[in-house]
Amino acid sequence: MPWSSSATTDPTTSPSERSRQGGVVIIGGGLAGCEAAWRCAGRRVNVKLLEMKPKHFSPAHQNGDLAELVCSNSLRSASPSSAVGLLKEELSALNSLIMEAAFAARVPAGQALAVDRAAFSRYVTDKIEANPYIELVSGAKADSLDIPRPARSPLIVAAGPLAADELVQALRETIGREFLHFYDALAPIVTRDSLDMSKIFVGDRYEEPGRGSYLNCPFTAEELDVFLSALLEADQTEARKFEEARFFEGCLPIEVMARRGLRTLTFGPMKPVGLVDPKTGKLPAAVVQLRLENEAGTHCNLVGFQTRLTIPSQRQVFRLIPGLEKAEFARYGAVHRNTYLDAPEVLDQFQRLVNRPDVFLAGQISGVEGYVESAAQGLWAGENAARQFLGLPLLVPPADTAIGSLTNHLTKKNAKRVFEPSNVNFGLFPPIPPETPKRLAAQFRLDRARNSFQAFLKEISDVQSE
Ligand SMILES: Cc1cc2nc3c(=O)[nH]c(=O)nc-3n(C[C@H](O)[C@H](O)[C@H](O)COP(=O)(O)OP(=O)(O)OC[C@H]3O[C@@H](n4cnc5c(N)ncnc54)[C@H](O)[C@@H]3O)c2cc1C
Repeated sequence: MPWSSSATTDPTTSPSERSRQGGVVIIGGGLAGCEAAWRCAGRRVNVKLLEMKPKHFSPAHQNGDLAELVCSNSLRSASPSSAVGLLKEELSALNSLIMEAAFAARVPAGQALAVDRAAFSRYVTDKIEANPYIELVSGAKADSLDIPRPARSPLIVAAGPLAADELVQALRETIGREFLHFYDALAPIVTRDSLDMSKIFVGDRYEEPGRGSYLNCPFTAEELDVFLSALLEADQTEARKFEEARFFEGCLPIEVMARRGLRTLTFGPMKPVGLVDPKTGKLPAAVVQLRLENEAGTHCNLVGFQTRLTIPSQRQVFRLIPGLEKAEFARYGAVHRNTYLDAPEVLDQFQRLVNRPDVFLAGQISGVEGYVESAAQGLWAGENAARQFLGLPLLVPPADTAIGSLTNHLTKKNAKRVFEPSNVNFGLFPPIPPETPKRLAAQFRLDRARNSFQAFLKEISDVQSE
């Protein structure tokens, strides 16, 4: 039976019958894949959702249900004053299945949105299985991007950070091996206005102090001693079995370097050479360098500080760095197994492979980081894949909304920086006018995001009813 481009196929026929009539094929029934499927179904576009569980499991997945939360049961803050809270608000307005499930399975956790993970996954699975537009094919491990499907029926790859090897190989062959990575080593990011600039000096190594692009946090010998002891004693997240052997010598976690001895740090990422402190006229005992993370200069990255410390330990230990005593963390450091694309090089603005516009990427594998972010990218890939199938114009969410800031991060080329996956944070948003008083900055950003998002919602529904 030919696949139909009609969005009004009779919903009383069975899902498998309906998906033979055309629509969107999705690989992976995780957070992104389920959200994408739900969005397409909301557009009355048929979906075939291929999920390799319960026949095949990645090293971290254990539960046979869809949308499994592989680690923490927290979807982080629900407060709209945080970027991830704002993203949740936008997702709920876009009828997100993941948000619906999270609120249905919520457990008390203060400001955070934490869930009963089994109830959460069951909720999503029940909804997907009951949807007449979705055909769920369980136990189906995709090994190619060329899954047989009629012309004009897009594919969404949402196979996650632990995608099965054969599929990863197929992706590498399509995009080039240098554009697909297997490991993440993320240094923390702090907001610039939370730094104590009376202790920090500006300057590039071997250049005249006062000019340059780095912010330098100088240590006295005593401060270095205290910092090193705290770093050596701090709690770390457990490495999983499949991650153990994977530290690259060139990218060791800071605490691993500290265990090798002080000189590994002071000859490595905390090297003071060439950085004379203008206040003392001397070389400090050690230096932590901060590099600007965004064009607006509102966020900085702790250079070389990729880490496996737990989040409370990162807060405690890194606030011992001179000038960072009150640092606000926009992103915490991490070192973990993660399959992801060099998104700005290989994706277009609609999350499609540049050389295969029939293939969309969604979720963690597309270069975002985190449960909510993966769901958001899934939802948007679903929207655009459905639009492509229906012959409607594809859309990019505005960069000053939370969901748009993620798309912008994935698709904006920056020749100066190596692409790193990111969770949503206000450093990804466009700058606010410099004349905005500091105390009004957060409200300005929130109002701007909400206004922009409301206008965008209207645009989506206008295009839909054309
Ligand atoms: C070990 C680990 C721990 C993490 N912990 C957290 C955390 O605590 N908090 C957080 O916010 N983020 C965490 N993340 C990051 C990320 O948010 C999650 O991995 C998230 O689940 C990503 O969503 P996704 O939909 O992109 O992928 P997934 O949720 O992993 O979904 C991918 C799905 O695709 C299926 N699949 C894979 N290959 C194929 C194939 N070839 N054919 C068919 N199906 C396939 C998988 O079985 C899986 O169901 C963690 C990541 C890892 C690897």
